[in-house]
Amino acid sequence: MQSANKQYINGEWVEALSRNRIDLINPATEEVLTSISFGDQKDAYLAIDAAAEAFKTWSKTTPYYRAEILKKAANYLRENLDKIAHDMVLESGKPLLEARGEWTVAANLIEWYAEEGKRAYGKVIPTNRIDKRSSVILQPMGVIGIITAWNFPSYNPARAWAAALAAGCTVVAKPSENTPLSAYHLTNAFITAGLPAGVLNLLIADAAPVGEAMLDDSRVKKISFTGSTRVGKILMDGASHTHTKLSLELGGNAPVIIFDDVEVDAIAKAASIARFRNNGQVCVAPQRFYIHKNIYDQFTEAVTKYVAQLKVGSGFEDGVNVGPLITSKQRDSVYELLAKTKAENATILTGGHQPSHLDKGYFMQPAVVANLNQSSVLAQNEIFGPILPVFSFDDLEDALAKANDTEYGLAAYAFTNNLNTAIKVSEGLEFGIIGINEWAAHGTELPFGGWKYSGQGHESGSEGLYEYMEKKLISIGGLS
Ligand code: NAD
Repeated sequence: MQSANKQYINGEWVEALSRNRIDLINPATEEVLTSISFGDQKDAYLAIDAAAEAFKTWSKTTPYYRAEILKKAANYLRENLDKIAHDMVLESGKPLLEARGEWTVAANLIEWYAEEGKRAYGKVIPTNRIDKRSSVILQPMGVIGIITAWNFPSYNPARAWAAALAAGCTVVAKPSENTPLSAYHLTNAFITAGLPAGVLNLLIADAAPVGEAMLDDSRVKKISFTGSTRVGKILMDGASHTHTKLSLELGGNAPVIIFDDVEVDAIAKAASIARFRNNGQVCVAPQRFYIHKNIYDQFTEAVTKYVAQLKVGSGFEDGVNVGPLITSKQRDSVYELLAKTKAENATILTGGHQPSHLDKGYFMQPAVVANLNQSSVLAQNEIFGPILPVFSFDDLEDALAKANDTEYGLAAYAFTNNLNTAIKVSEGLEFGIIGINEWAAHGTELPFGGWKYSGQGHESGSEGLYEYMEKKLISIGGLS
């Protein structure tokens, strides 16, 4: 099935009305990969028209019917894994192994929601009157605008699209223009599976006007947004005028608290992999490493050794751990953060420069930075790049105070072999996702959402399904 890099509206691949096209750049080589159709607000309104019309019938189908289509879409992804993972590496730069893993999770998410849609149970509530019966049912919301970030080109859209479609909603999707190839493949999966025209519409388009169209058109009942806190705030401002509902999955600045009762070398080695997954461009990336003062030197030395061994290069090369950053802009912002920490007199223990064997591509040799305090830019900002800053702490209270000292509240991690410490730290952290002795505190079946400036609502798990359903109380009175 061909997308010809176009928009997918009302069951057809079409050029943007403006005929505008932009280049897609390979971040590992800086070469043009292909050109893609780039739409605007006019295309968005066409997509909303199609989704609103399709909602009339899609919302009336059974979850069993929808599940069959979703499961076929999941299987399409599994059957085409080689091709779709290859294209994800081309456009995102991430290592092939990570791309294959991400597509596998995307397929699993779609399959999981296919089944979970069948379990959108309401409830019957006993009332205080003998002549009255009350129950709550769940109904699909309507047209959902889904805007997603590039860092997980298939996972980010898949978790929102699948939940919304399983709930009986129709979708106008606007993934990032940095990773359209994955979005075309995901769309093709649903087309091949037999999704009716208009149920899923894909726009690769100018973000701000499309976001405005989604806010302004009252047929769009919710915007599900995965991206930066900055843009999340823009949408919140807009929604305050239009009453559009929002699900917001925003930025993070995850602390990692490592107590002095752990196997330091093993944790340092694991940290060197976890921190640099997808080049640190992960909203739940372990970012600020708080190390107990008794093991600070030992941990810092070990982690520096392991980080220096990471292999940087093209995602297609065997054994590469770290690819390029997504764009020159993203690369520049990470180098700028590093320059600011140098001005703060921090010490760069390894990395932080263009790898000597790579003269093209948006790369940075993974860096470890020490000699930092809480006011450092590396403590206060989301880094979204290959820098691992190490800080020290004195005791549990000190660790919690420092870890919670951020406007973000997405993920946090702690490592300890003491049960009391594990419970106290997990209860004291002001974050929506806590990993104790593990780096992957997420899963298709688990709720994923942030506190504070990191978001509103949840994706994944049954919570992710209910984000796209309205609750309705039905109360029947006057019974004899
Ligand atoms: P971004 O906010 O710049 O862009 C995200 C999406 O929003 C893109 O599709 C973009 O085109 C669109 N967009 C940009 N301006 C817009 C506007 N004015 N109106 C409507 N849409 C607009 O973020 P990014 O740089 O692409 O992604 C990185 C950010 O995403 C990081 O902060 C990261 O933590 C966050 N993120 C969060 C999660 C999560 O689940 N919490 C997951 C992935 C990424």
